[in-house]
Amino acid sequence: MDLYSGHINKLIEELSGLPGIGTKSAQRLAFHLINLPQERVDRLARTMMEAKANVRYCKECFTLTDKEVCPVCANEGRDHRMIMVVENARDLAAYEKTGKYMGVYHVLHGAISPMLGIGPNDIKLKELMQRLQTDIAEVIIATNSSLEGETTAMYISKLIKPTGIRVTRIASGVPVGGDLEYIDEVTLLRALEGRTEL
Ligand code: ZN
Repeated sequence: MDLYSGHINKLIEELSGLPGIGTKSAQRLAFHLINLPQERVDRLARTMMEAKANVRYCKECFTLTDKEVCPVCANEGRDHRMIMVVENARDLAAYEKTGKYMGVYHVLHGAISPMLGIGPNDIKLKELMQRLQTDIAEVIIATNSSLEGETTAMYISKLIKPTGIRVTRIASGVPVGGDLEYIDEVTLLRALEGRTEL
């Protein structure tokens, strides 16, 4: 692949390392970027660096935020005794979009996957267990219905059961392996309302 200059090849290589971007899309994006006015490229690069430098984990739920505590955790009107466990910040956003869930969240940043070598210590599980030391009424496990999501759900429920805290799992009906963020709001609400005891 020496058709292009080294700089373009490098750019294509970087872009094709992003999720959902194949070599063809990476090429298209690379040429698009090269043809943009200089100030647009500067702005894009600056925005990426500023986001990376300023975004951090909420110290309570571990979602991504600009502040020490995210707006959901900071909201006194939310039910802080109800914690919904999700795999990532995008899943949290999907549930927030329904506007119907009034509890708070816990973002694991991944799921247990023996195949990929991701164990319980590689996700924010210890942090969840720490939160359960306070007065918690229910933990709703809303990990994906993929193999990893189900494995994680079973693992978490086994950990929590002895504490006596109510543990529930959102209803399936969420397509197998489907990311929560792609599921419409009605389906998400139905999954939440139809949750079952674990
Ligand atoms: Zn938070």
